Amino acid sequence: MHRSAEYAGGLFFNEYAGGSRMPYQILDIGSSNINGSLKNVAPEKGIYTGADLMSGPGVDVVLNDPYHYPFSDSSFDFIVSSSCFEHDQFFWLSFIEIGRVLKSGGLFYLNVPSNGFYHRYPSDYWRFYPDAGKALEEWGKRNGYEIELIESFVLPQWKSELWNDFIAVFQKKPQDNSGVLPRMYRHFSGITNVWLKGEQYPQNENKLPEDRRKLVEAEYRMKKVSGGLIDPRNIETEKPVCNLCGGTEFIPGPNGRMADSGVPPCCRKCGSLERQRIVRRIFQGLPIGFLDWRKGLQFSPDNSLNPKWFREYEISIYGGENSMDIQSIDRNAADYNFVSFNHVLEFIPDACRAFDELFRILSPDGILQACFSSPLLRETSRDFEEPFGPHSAWHLFGKDIVSYFNLARKGIIALAIEETDPCTGVREVVHLFIRQPKDAMRIRGWLSAWSATVLVLP
Ligand SMILES: [Zn+2]
Repeated sequence: MHRSAEYAGGLFFNEYAGGSRMPYQILDIGSSNINGSLKNVAPEKGIYTGADLMSGPGVDVVLNDPYHYPFSDSSFDFIVSSSCFEHDQFFWLSFIEIGRVLKSGGLFYLNVPSNGFYHRYPSDYWRFYPDAGKALEEWGKRNGYEIELIESFVLPQWKSELWNDFIAVFQKKPQDNSGVLPRMYRHFSGITNVWLKGEQYPQNENKLPEDRRKLVEAEYRMKKVSGGLIDPRNIETEKPVCNLCGGTEFIPGPNGRMADSGVPPCCRKCGSLERQRIVRRIFQGLPIGFLDWRKGLQFSPDNSLNPKWFREYEISIYGGENSMDIQSIDRNAADYNFVSFNHVLEFIPDACRAFDELFRILSPDGILQACFSSPLLRETSRDFEEPFGPHSAWHLFGKDIVSYFNLARKGIIALAIEETDPCTGVREVVHLFIRQPKDAMRIRGWLSAWSATVLVLP
């Protein structure tokens, strides 16, 4: 399994199973663990069954007949299949069998390459084009199963990989959708040909596969250099998409501010700015099982984190609801497994004491997440005698936060994660403070596979 596939599978569980403590029944079709498995990113409380044609790591049930599963009707809440249907001779038969063992209201997550290498495991039969999910929906109806397409889209290529994953989420009827169903497409930038339930046309329609588009762009640049001309309107451009809400319209920020890249930074729909989208993007790179057992606390409300990701989530608003004195926090030691404070310590007179307090209420396996304002701009942190500047800050933090907060002596590891805002291209640093070296290494592995630059600060 390539890394984008595991990442997307984690997002599926995050979005559709996030926040629930249900012991879901989960079935993985084609579960053999070849460089990664969706089991790694599934909810911890789920009861996971891996099925494949041959025994091996990650396989609980060996299928004698790939088109007949040894499970009774309506057995599973979630069925996932990633990088498997392209190797399945008659995937349409598998789809019907999946429909049979899926519970009503249950979800089927499908990931198949739309474009990529010829790869024989043991044979390579199919690629899925953008409308494939609609065809499967119709095929289900013909066979007496209402398996509705909720969303489908094609992912952009991940780093230097050639794969373009086609992702589809189906839900078996009848459904009891009392709340609004989540959608995972909102968390990706650069996706194309997005089908949403009930719509007549795909969004972000894009005629060219990414390989071809890159060739056209390269050709255009070459012709431009050599003085020739082709019509630049023929080059398809991608609209930026807010990874919090899916919005595609952006307006200037507070006081008419533009992003450092010169474009308007504020999402018209949800009001998010660069920093919120960057923090959100980083947490989208962490598997659900890493967060869903944690009790979280956030100082000052901030929509970059989704409370649904956590077992419990508490917000403290300065001078308002649930207000806490961060220099002397009215909570027991080791009470939380996760604490977030973005642009908070700048405004606290004794920031070191506040930092120690934050660590006191954190469990030994806990994580502190912080944003400071532009710490890469200055080598050393500065303290002021009295609140300074337009925002009345007591401190401006710099690259020296490890020594400023005396982290080495306290046995705390600091990760500086640099990530790009998908809407403005602006880069910012987010800090994580951790006691367990094992956790620091895992986080670094997950995030650097996606796009972030993760530094373990000395
Ligand atoms: Zn938004």
